[in-house]
Amino acid sequence: MHDDVSLTLGRVRRVLTERIRPAVHGPRLPMEVRAHRLPGEPVPPDQGLGLEHDPYEVGTPWGPAWSTTWFRLRGEIPQQWAGQPVEALIDLGFDVNMPGFQCEALVYLPDGTPVKSLNPRNQWVRVSDTAVGGEAVELHLEAAANPVLLDYHPFLPTQEGDVQTSSPKPLYTTRHMDLAVFHPEVFELASDLTVLLELVEQLPEGARRGRILTALDAALDRVDLQRIPETASAGRAELVEVLQAPASASAHTISAIGHAHIDSAWLWPVRETIRKVARTSSSMTELIDATDDFLYGMSSAQQYAWLKEHRPEVFARVKQAVQEGRFVPLGGMWVESDTTMPSGESLVRQFLHGQRFFESEFGIRCRGVWLPDSFGYSPALPQLMRRAGFEWFFTQKISWNQVNRFPHHSFDWEGIDGSRVFTHFPPMDTYNAQLSGEELARADRQFREHRTSTSSVAPTGWGDGGGGTTREMVAAARRVADLEGSPKVRWEHPDDFFSRARAELPEPPVWVGELYLELHRATLTSQHGTKRGNRRTEHLLVAAELWSTLAAVRTGADYPYEALETLWETVLLHQFHDILPGTSIAWVHREAVETYARVEDEARKIIDGALDMLAGSGTDHLVANAAPAPARLHGIELPADTLTAPGSSSAPAVELRRDGEDLLLENSLVRIRLDDAGHVVSAVELATGREAIVAGERANVLRLHQDFPNMWDAWDVDRFYRNTVEVIDGVDELTAEVDAAGAAVVTVTRSFGSSTVTQRLTLEPESRMLRIEQETDWHEAEKFLKAVFPLQVWATETIAETQFGVQRRPTHTNTSWEAAKFETSMHRFVLVEEEDFGVALVNDSIYGFDVTRDADGEVTTTVGLSLLRAPRFPDPETDQGLQHHCLGLVVGADVTSATVEASALNIPPVEIAGDAQTAARLGRPLAQVEGPAVLRSVVKLAADRSGDVVVRVYESAGRRSHAELTLDPALDAEAARAVSLLEEETDDVPELTVDSQAGRLSWPIRPFEVTTVRIPQA
Ligand SMILES: [Zn+2]
Repeated sequence: MHDDVSLTLGRVRRVLTERIRPAVHGPRLPMEVRAHRLPGEPVPPDQGLGLEHDPYEVGTPWGPAWSTTWFRLRGEIPQQWAGQPVEALIDLGFDVNMPGFQCEALVYLPDGTPVKSLNPRNQWVRVSDTAVGGEAVELHLEAAANPVLLDYHPFLPTQEGDVQTSSPKPLYTTRHMDLAVFHPEVFELASDLTVLLELVEQLPEGARRGRILTALDAALDRVDLQRIPETASAGRAELVEVLQAPASASAHTISAIGHAHIDSAWLWPVRETIRKVARTSSSMTELIDATDDFLYGMSSAQQYAWLKEHRPEVFARVKQAVQEGRFVPLGGMWVESDTTMPSGESLVRQFLHGQRFFESEFGIRCRGVWLPDSFGYSPALPQLMRRAGFEWFFTQKISWNQVNRFPHHSFDWEGIDGSRVFTHFPPMDTYNAQLSGEELARADRQFREHRTSTSSVAPTGWGDGGGGTTREMVAAARRVADLEGSPKVRWEHPDDFFSRARAELPEPPVWVGELYLELHRATLTSQHGTKRGNRRTEHLLVAAELWSTLAAVRTGADYPYEALETLWETVLLHQFHDILPGTSIAWVHREAVETYARVEDEARKIIDGALDMLAGSGTDHLVANAAPAPARLHGIELPADTLTAPGSSSAPAVELRRDGEDLLLENSLVRIRLDDAGHVVSAVELATGREAIVAGERANVLRLHQDFPNMWDAWDVDRFYRNTVEVIDGVDELTAEVDAAGAAVVTVTRSFGSSTVTQRLTLEPESRMLRIEQETDWHEAEKFLKAVFPLQVWATETIAETQFGVQRRPTHTNTSWEAAKFETSMHRFVLVEEEDFGVALVNDSIYGFDVTRDADGEVTTTVGLSLLRAPRFPDPETDQGLQHHCLGLVVGADVTSATVEASALNIPPVEIAGDAQTAARLGRPLAQVEGPAVLRSVVKLAADRSGDVVVRVYESAGRRSHAELTLDPALDAEAARAVSLLEEETDDVPELTVDSQAGRLSWPIRPFEVTTVRIPQA
């Protein structure tokens, strides 16, 4: 016989698609359908179920973008179906090629019990396992007409991304809403054939492939295509032998976990995520009930909290399944956050709020951090994960790198402080696996640790919007559990996978430093209003905690636990990896900016209330400095964490004079020279005479680049943006004056394109920082705005602030790894320095920068701060309108002084009236921090509401040193303990030396170490 492989494969493909899969469901009967289209936003299910319905004819259009339609379906089971399984088959107008991105529905029984969801790849609802003839069926659908914003026309601007601009035209047309008999044996035959077909497509020539091909032909010979239900068993019998052949002894093992990566907002608003979570969780508990070994994992305490609040019936089912160990809470975080931009304190709260929720609701803690999709991972994370009690870390996003292939799949990841955490990337390169033959073979082929390690993870199910695992995937998993030629698959808790993988790798390879994603670099800049809101609220909430703690301990005031928790959880939600990065639809960012304004307002109210308590009544001028380092106001130094009555300044006013066309601004520390266009052409540190600006160059120059990436507009900036540049150096108006506080202020207005920009450059007395406040009325499309500083500094590396420390990156591009980092992240500053001189650029709301190394006789360093973009997808109006930035050029800076200046810029002093003596008594710090570069991160009351004070400090400069805390007598120094980030006793923390007489705690502190101390009140 001639061996024609393609003939057999073609036969199986056609018969499966055109005959066997359609025959899984037998005779059909249309249901009687009525519908109610809601005029506005969704309503709770109890209201939806009580709505009046109008007649609806299947096949007519329904659902303008973002609208909800409640369908009522009724039918009666025919007598001749009695005894058989019956399902409802509902096609809302799905496109099966796009699971997750379109219309969806949750199915309810008439009594309000949620059953499961309807998604493009999940269009059935079991009505009865053993039908009774004549039985009435009634189902209600809460159908959401979420528009398709990606895939048909990827990255084209669309108005459908906000309910305020979307079209009223219906988007979907139902195809059928039927009752049908379900044929289990045909379903099993389809699953057998699918798994063997996909396997044989991956197998090399050889005996195994031959056997399977023969079996496939034999099976199809036995199936009568006119009588498939009657002959399916005979077909399956021909496949038993090839399906029973066991996997080889060294087969790779794949640890599958059911999954549906549900973004907490993205191409849909937050309110839709609440429903997506309810839909997917209903389907997954249904699938858990229908199977023996399937496990489903869901991250994000926030998503469980939404269920609890909005869909308590679904939450009850989930809770039950969690208790049974089948529904697995993952990640221990409040949401799957971005990790490059949130502050250190925010990341701690992601863990604290996440783990506390899982503990209180389910009595469990997550052992690992689960972030499959965030856009790069901060090198501060390993320490924070370890200090929060986590044992492992999971992602896969680095497989999206444009250039470099990551060398490991299972490895130890080492952070800036030297902490290591065991990490796994699934070699399948997806968080939406279907367990197809191709995926299984790919995982086996690509896995980098085969020499010592036997297994990898596969998050299995439709994600990026929901849906989750299907019964087809469960059927495939059962067949590839132990199948010759295939990796072995088993449903497994990731904890079990990580324990095994760690044991197999006693000396895992080590990756040091950030996990930089060589893609999506523009997420550090897009949607500036969202980023600014994050930065402001992070600082205000820490200030609110500081003053509230002082007020609680010193005056007995109530600590606003509820309010602070709620505000933090709002900020944490918005750090989700499509909100803070600026990659959601217009609706999400419009709401985010409004929400941040509300959080700011409420945080300020808490701050004002606490300061009122601490200030007493009076008319003395008081200043509250909530920065963890001394700050200045009008030339007067203010101590850290203190409410004081400052004296008056004796510092001389800044000298402002003309020198030809130039302006000179000079105080006791620096002399700044501006040219006639308001650019910085010289900045000299007077003590050393060092010049910060490259001779003949201009700094603080605004550069406008064309910015039209090849795809992923809000996410990506491609390297070629640098090829086109327009320098914005025209001047509409320039004024200069010395203000009442003795500061020199130069204001410059420029216009370009359809936009204008005003910069206010201020040099204060006794300050080495030129402060630049910028207001941009931004009306550009597909442009990238940078503020550029050519610095006369021969820097081998940039030093950028990250959570609880700094990270260093080479300025050269020797290897493809460095070259790929042409846009990188920072927090509040980036510093470049030589042996004895450095220049820092500090900011109040910027996260991205680039650096170029220039050589013309000597090496200099040009830093470009990324201010604004104007991508048109998914939000066509990204960043349009008024935008604010504040930054500073610090001349003669090191890590410590840059941190101090950046802190003060981000949480400026607050001036109030009160009584100076009361303030002196009540407004001094509860815990005074000492140590060369040791800084307070937070002072708060413990989350368990015991009244204990929690003080978190960190070593900020990368120096091995000694930390010291001097405590107020109101605190019981003797009982102080170093604790975990979750504020609990643990072994993995330094031993404190206590001098109870002096109320002093001290301990050795490692470079970038974070220490949390918990102190009961005396
Ligand atoms: Zn995502």
